[in-house]
Amino acid sequence: MIDQIPAMTEPEDPSRDRLKQHFAKRVIHQARQVLEVWQRLQQEEWGAPVMAELVETNLGLLRYAERFEQDVHIQLARAIGQCLEAVEANRGRLSSPLITELNQLMQRLSRTGLRHGDQYEQTFLPPLRKPVYLALQDQDRAQRLAQQLEFFGLSAQPLASASAFRAAMAERHPAAILMEVDFAGPGQGLLLASEAQEGLEQKLPLLFFSHEDVDTPTRLAAVRAGGQEFFTGALDASSLIERIEVLTNVVQYEPYRVLIVDDSRAQATHTERVLNSAGIVTRTLIEPIQAMAELAEFQPDLIILDMYMPDCSGTELAKVIRHNDRYVSVPIIYLSAEDDLDKQLDAMSEGGDDFLTKPIKPRHLIATVRNRAARARNLKARMVRDSLTGLFNHTHTLQLLEDARFRARRDGQPLTFAMIDIDHFKKVNDTYGHPMGDRVIKSLALFLKQRLRKTDHIGRYGGEEFAVVLPDTDAVTAAKVLDEIRRRFAEIRYPAQPQDLSCTFSCGIAELHDGMDCNSLSKQADEALYVAKRGGRNRVEIHLTEA
Ligand code: GH3
Ligand code: MG
Ligand code: MG
Repeated sequence: MIDQIPAMTEPEDPSRDRLKQHFAKRVIHQARQVLEVWQRLQQEEWGAPVMAELVETNLGLLRYAERFEQDVHIQLARAIGQCLEAVEANRGRLSSPLITELNQLMQRLSRTGLRHGDQYEQTFLPPLRKPVYLALQDQDRAQRLAQQLEFFGLSAQPLASASAFRAAMAERHPAAILMEVDFAGPGQGLLLASEAQEGLEQKLPLLFFSHEDVDTPTRLAAVRAGGQEFFTGALDASSLIERIEVLTNVVQYEPYRVLIVDDSRAQATHTERVLNSAGIVTRTLIEPIQAMAELAEFQPDLIILDMYMPDCSGTELAKVIRHNDRYVSVPIIYLSAEDDLDKQLDAMSEGGDDFLTKPIKPRHLIATVRNRAARARNLKARMVRDSLTGLFNHTHTLQLLEDARFRARRDGQPLTFAMIDIDHFKKVNDTYGHPMGDRVIKSLALFLKQRLRKTDHIGRYGGEEFAVVLPDTDAVTAAKVLDEIRRRFAEIRYPAQPQDLSCTFSCGIAELHDGMDCNSLSKQADEALYVAKRGGRNRVEIHLTEA
């Protein structure tokens, strides 16, 4: 654990603890600065000033972290420092491996203050995560809600009065505020909230709540008080947390990936340098014939093709790429010295999206790539996701499983596939209605997102069925994780009439073994799920493979 008091000092000193909390906040603040500089790279190009600023803010982070004994931040700041030295040694140039490494470190840094870690063992310090302030009239309701939020890995602090709220605000700003409109008197919640926001440079995510339905003037007042959301009626933790997630907007910047196919190494290197300088990860292929294998492996956001190559022309390659359903939406940009407009148009009609003529200004190239890649990502996100839950849809989950199997084989790592099905879900719909059923589905989706690693792929497989791809994980480890999730999920209470509702799920797990394809893997998980259902539901079963 990181936040323990060092052994030399006497334990159980609450004022020291508070002091540490206070200083930890400074470390987090400094971490944010570092992230901010890094994220600016999305809009800019890498140059000496950005570099110097990043080095500087990161040094600040290291200093604070050392002074206040924040081990995780010390480690991260050192690792980032090493990367920056490597950039320096590379004559100030970013390269794809360095971008990737820096990005990974930044992602970890972005999670230290806000959410739990990327590992199953929580090595990141939850105490630093800011709580959500709950200012609700009904203290029992507030307590219950706080408990529910804990299940989703978010800490919440119920506050009993206006003065308690003010005191809490003075001590520490929360991740978000949930304020009942009539907290501490009719309409007082609105006033209290706007008072809290006053003079803040960066407004806090503010959500209003009213037990009764409210009129438009009240909603308007809520908007004017800075409210970004208005809940009425029964409050449930999952919709609340969903909004908080969006509002607190944990920015997860993934660098764009660009595949360059060009038979001239000099030209390719030049393109790579330009793109790397904008924080874009690149990979180059000199031989177009390998493009399909590379596409599957590298999963680029965009492809840059040379028009004229000896073995196979750019337009031919574009056609081949477009033949594969998976890559119909990956933008293809031709980069060529060809300035004959007719030929350019021909090339575009063969599956290209844009035509850039050499020599091209670096800024122009970067802007084109960024715009195209951003649009493509956006589109893809909509194509591969399920609209109710935001999880991957069935087709895409299977594609991800296929990719994961390829990687597992190549790297000699284990791979586990899990199928989850909510128990007696028909009864939920029948007793509480379809919207309530939807809410349970959404809440399980969110629960899985919160509790699994970022590297796991979570899909909505069918109605109330989910699937999880767990790379680098064997069946026994996966079963442990999913069983813990199962246990905690069963504890969630959804407020409902005539009585609160809780749900369970069953889960079947299978691990990839020699000679198995994705079909047999998912079949085995399905069989294990069936065993779990037959065995009485609310349990996790591993498929028994006969040796
Ligand atoms: P078991 O424990 O055996 O899984 O029982 P079950 O009732 O969960 O299983 P069954 O597959 O018979 O029923 C699933 C139900 O889920 C049927 C369908 O109406 C409901 N369902 C499927 N998709 C949705 C959805 O998107 N929203 C809601 N509310 N219900 C859905
Ligand atoms: Mg089912
Ligand atoms: Mg079911």
